[in-house]
Amino acid sequence: MSRSDELMERAVRYIPGGVNSPVRSCKNVGMTPRFIQGATGPYIFDADGKKYIDYICSWGPMILGHNDSRIRDKVIKACENGLSFGTATETEVDIAEFICRNIPHVEMIRMVNSGTEAVMSAIRAARGFTGRDKIIKFAGNYHGHSDCLLVDAGSGLMTQGIPGSAGVPRGCTRDTLSAVYNDPESVRKLFEANKDQIAAVIVEPAAANMGVVLPEEGFLQELRELCTGEGAVLIFDEVITGFRLAFGGAAEYYGVIPDMVTYGKIIGGGMPVGAYGGRKEIMDQVSPAGPVYQAGTLSGNPIAMAAGLEAIRILYDHPSYYEALRSKGFMLFGGMREIIHKYKAPCTVNYVGSLGCVFFTKNKVANYEQALSSDTTAFSAYFKYMLGKGVHVAPSQFEAMFISTEHSDEVIEKTLKAFEGFISSYYGRG
Ligand SMILES: *Cc1c(COP(=O)(O)O)cnc(C)c1O
Repeated sequence: MSRSDELMERAVRYIPGGVNSPVRSCKNVGMTPRFIQGATGPYIFDADGKKYIDYICSWGPMILGHNDSRIRDKVIKACENGLSFGTATETEVDIAEFICRNIPHVEMIRMVNSGTEAVMSAIRAARGFTGRDKIIKFAGNYHGHSDCLLVDAGSGLMTQGIPGSAGVPRGCTRDTLSAVYNDPESVRKLFEANKDQIAAVIVEPAAANMGVVLPEEGFLQELRELCTGEGAVLIFDEVITGFRLAFGGAAEYYGVIPDMVTYGKIIGGGMPVGAYGGRKEIMDQVSPAGPVYQAGTLSGNPIAMAAGLEAIRILYDHPSYYEALRSKGFMLFGGMREIIHKYKAPCTVNYVGSLGCVFFTKNKVANYEQALSSDTTAFSAYFKYMLGKGVHVAPSQFEAMFISTEHSDEVIEKTLKAFEGFISSYYGRG
């Protein structure tokens, strides 16, 4: 029995399912999670001392690789002054100013402790600003686990929200309407059926929580025009894409400007942080400037701010990192496509920059329904095979692979070799 298996036996006794977030569980691939004792660069080390090339990268934050010494130094230095004060600090001003100065559509920003909190608060601000209650989200887009956003993602076009989780009262999702990703017509119909009632449209501008699903040409632009025409707030949930597709996130990358954005993951540099921001007139609604209440005992925590500020400063100071991430993405995901083509495997690779995934379906994947057509049995076999070859990918078909600046050509070549080994053995027989 491995040390991870032993730890899991202990964990399940005291923690529901043995994990503090369900995405870490390897239940659906029939395994136990690797318990990690440390990480550096592109590698993580499990409790048995085994080394893996890591493509989870803490689900995105580790865009500079694990345990970056520049960020670590800032954290240690901040720790020397105290862990939390519960009152204002200079670093909070520094990070807010840095973001607002360098991302034009963020005029004001509020720091919180997670992406979930960021989105929940952004929705509240949008509702307060418009005086409307209803929101439109897209099937298959994930926006954290707050009640009103846990709408059954499979429910499809124009249905009223059905809770996607036990424990969410019907009333909490009544104002959440579900549209189809990459189908602006589905959004237009919801606007028509709910005239002057839609507070906001929230979207993952490149979706990465149903696997990676990219916005088709014109999709985001149409959302922009619909929201402007209807007086609704357009919210880009950039918890994954922010600071990853470009410094200014998907908004900069695709050239479509939302009214509000939410951040998480990278903005904390590995510490628990989220943020929401946008147009001043909307953010001015937030307490204590305005009537929309939102608070947090540890919000803007000095250690978290030191880590986050250093992470985004490094990214801002090195535009070449984004070019490097793009070519690494091309090498990995383009390489996977070639292998798929070579073995005529029924797989599809979607990617943008350093964010991508392989779907075990030969069909195009542009929305949730299509993502669901993937062969999850093949995915489980792929996960186990890759782990056996020392490559750690997310234990779910519906998660992304994240590349960091530390994933060298050599590391990517090793990954491709493992991938070819899997594809040739799984599909090459027939
Ligand atoms: C991860 C994620 C969230 C939730 O962030 P947490 O920090 O896990 O609460 C929200 N939106 C998107 C797009 C995410 O990927």
